[in-house]
Amino acid sequence: QHSPSQGAFLPPARLGVMGGGQLGRMFVHAAQAMGFKVAVLEAAPDSPAGHAADSLIAADYSDPQALAQLGQSCVAVTTEFENVPADSLRLLATHAFVAPGADCVAIAQDRIAEKRFLAGCAARSGVPPAPHKTIATLIDIDSIDDLLLPGILKTVRMGYDGKGQAVVRSRDDVRAAFNAMGGVTCLLEKMLPLAYEVSVLTARGADGESVVYQIAENVHRDGILFTTTVPGPNVSLDSAAKAQQAARVIVDQLAYVGVLCIEFFVLTDGSLVVNEMAPRPHNSGHYTMDACVTSQFAQQVRAMARLPLGEVRQHSPAVMLNLLGDIWFADGSDTPAEPAWAELLALPGACLHLYGKEAARRGRKMGHVTFIAPTLAQAQSQLAAACAILG
Ligand code: ADP
Ligand code: MG
Repeated sequence: QHSPSQGAFLPPARLGVMGGGQLGRMFVHAAQAMGFKVAVLEAAPDSPAGHAADSLIAADYSDPQALAQLGQSCVAVTTEFENVPADSLRLLATHAFVAPGADCVAIAQDRIAEKRFLAGCAARSGVPPAPHKTIATLIDIDSIDDLLLPGILKTVRMGYDGKGQAVVRSRDDVRAAFNAMGGVTCLLEKMLPLAYEVSVLTARGADGESVVYQIAENVHRDGILFTTTVPGPNVSLDSAAKAQQAARVIVDQLAYVGVLCIEFFVLTDGSLVVNEMAPRPHNSGHYTMDACVTSQFAQQVRAMARLPLGEVRQHSPAVMLNLLGDIWFADGSDTPAEPAWAELLALPGACLHLYGKEAARRGRKMGHVTFIAPTLAQAQSQLAAACAILG
């Protein structure tokens, strides 16, 4: 007879998280709401997650003593930052249950390994990645197929929010961009004609059971997520079903444990391409905090604690707006001014989340607001009102 508490870690056990950013902070809040204690490992003494945690280990992600301390004080450890060294997760796994596992995180950290993996899934998932080529040296540039141009050159490691990317139209452009990136190994991807972008949030438990959230439609500005709308106004039933099915194949193929978000492109001809995976809760999943039975952060807690996964049902249409530091400077001055939160909160269905970051800077993710409403049209009109208030 299988009982749901078999092998599970129950509150008030201590969970660990690698990284001190806003994703870690929202994870800490979700874990504490369920009665767990949380330890954060983060080098910065002041961090969004560090302030919320029960305990902070202020050290580098690869500090062996700090990792031993985290692993020994926690029953299970996760990561909120996708670029933690995979070896750190391996070391942690000698002390505690680690989810997601080092091998999965290693694939998501490396665009070459990620593309290879996704291409390998394509026969079963039905969804291929973009045509691409590894550019490790200048010699590789000579043999670029015309089909890959115009393209996007992306650094293989450490890219996020459109950083470490350049649009390239010719081999000369590729050479210039490759040199400008310091000659680090890059991936050249064909520039695809995007109709819109979507993401699928999934979670898989240690028992192999998985859940798939409703598909989300994402709008980016300057490479940074701007809004997420669920249900997506452009998403067809057919592409939603295909993306969700592909997501199931991908998490199973990885034997993943935890929350995984997969980004897809829908092309102008209606076909689907898989872009990349985030081995953690994702910005496009923040709407789940206010619009779904189980938030992505509560889901991460359940998965790593080997508890039953929660229901993913969405109870309200939702629009999420990222709050970047830019809105602190909406009046054009160089001195940051606190945005009109009271006016924003006066809008029906406004759910405000601020990450407690000290200084607002342009392009910095300071918070987000999700509008939930009985209909999507109402949520969208609150978004328009919010944009007018915030400038
Ligand atoms: P990041 O790690 O910065 O999120 P992505 O690979 O997701 O990197 O690229 C950021 C954005 O750039 C995407 O959301 C999409 O808007 C655009 N983009 C990336 N790759 C392509 C492509 N092959 N064709 C067209 N647009 C792309
Ligand atoms: Mg992306």
